[in-house]
Amino acid sequence: MVVEPKVKGFLCITSHPKGCTKNVENQIEYVKQKGAMKNGCKTALIIGASTGYGLASRICAAFGCNADTIGVFFERPADPERGRTASAGWYNTVAFTKKAEEAGLYAANINGDAFSDEIKQKTIEAIKNSPSGKVDLIVYSLASPRRTDPKTGETYKSVLKAVGEPARNKSLDTDKGQIVEVTVPVATEKEISDTIKVMGGEDWELWIKALDEAGVIAEGCTSLAYTYIGPKLTYPIYREGTIGQAKKDLEKAAERIDATLKIHRGKAFISANKALVTQASSAIPVVPLYISILYKVMKEKGIHEGCIEQIERLFSTQLYNDNCLNYQDDGLVHIDDLEMRQDVQDGVFGLWDKIETSNLKELTDFEGYQKEFLKLFGFGLEGVDYQEDVEI
Ligand code: NAD
Repeated sequence: MVVEPKVKGFLCITSHPKGCTKNVENQIEYVKQKGAMKNGCKTALIIGASTGYGLASRICAAFGCNADTIGVFFERPADPERGRTASAGWYNTVAFTKKAEEAGLYAANINGDAFSDEIKQKTIEAIKNSPSGKVDLIVYSLASPRRTDPKTGETYKSVLKAVGEPARNKSLDTDKGQIVEVTVPVATEKEISDTIKVMGGEDWELWIKALDEAGVIAEGCTSLAYTYIGPKLTYPIYREGTIGQAKKDLEKAAERIDATLKIHRGKAFISANKALVTQASSAIPVVPLYISILYKVMKEKGIHEGCIEQIERLFSTQLYNDNCLNYQDDGLVHIDDLEMRQDVQDGVFGLWDKIETSNLKELTDFEGYQKEFLKLFGFGLEGVDYQEDVEI
């Protein structure tokens, strides 16, 4: 069938199999061109491996380090009878696996709820079946709206709300291309603790415990997770909001996981990454407008990066190639350094107050934002014939 984008709010409910394939191939090509990394990982487990930062991590492990990979994700297969495409992460994974296998690499895929005990056990089996039988890199890159606690069966939902007082700011209605004023309401104590339960560090620790008990953690193993800090302008909705509280919990978990991995002469850390268009970030109020302005400023300065450029830089300049992690005063590793550069932030804030619907196209890179958003679902890639009938 001919597959077209069907955007509903911050979701696109269709994905293009050939476009997603092309998107993955472009990322693989980028990493290969950057060259092989010295002393890279040998077997990597990526939890949240099918899109965004997790997919980029898997590609860097496989094609930068020549590593076997085990990917965990939650994706939907196609339903050809009802004309429903698979989710983008599904097609991404098919494309990744084909390329990895062609390169002679082991690539195991576990599709299911990463928060469950069952998926953890299936993953352990896949690690045991891998050539080395152990993992020396564990990337925790989940972004999920809900989590069912495996011990109690209770389901928690994360919310994107403010803490203490409501957050008022400009935002971008990405459907209508209009600037709107939003008031993000204050979360209740339960909403805060539920968001921490979903996006905090508890599940990451459960993963490490399960892997450790199964004896599949290799000597010198590194584990990392991703956070976002950003500028003060987005603090009320991000860093100081419910999601930020969960991220602070994740950061505390990193310290405990670091202690566990030290026993294996390994380490755990958190990398603060750049704000980018992904399926997860498009759902956050204020952030799409901030990203649209940030992209304009960073592209003008020639320093714009996407997920693959960010993770390749993290891997090649800090994690591997005999380099050291560059911890900052806050205890985190930062690859958001270009985003947070003073001249970049001055550029963003110089524009922020001036933006209105009438000058949105001129003063921001909303066009680039929209293109990136569609690219997440395999649309708008060069070299793909979108009029062609494709097998879904
Ligand atoms: P994403 O939506 O692109 O990817 C999320 C991944 O998690 C997908 O592979 C998805 O299949 C998987 N997943 C979700 N729920 C799952 C479940 N229950 N079981 C198994 N897999 C599940 O998100 P992203 O933006 O790449 O975010 C990844 C991490 O990076 C998050 O921790 C996020 O906070 C962080 N981060 C994102 C940004 C940004 O701007 N996008 C910036 C800094 C840090």
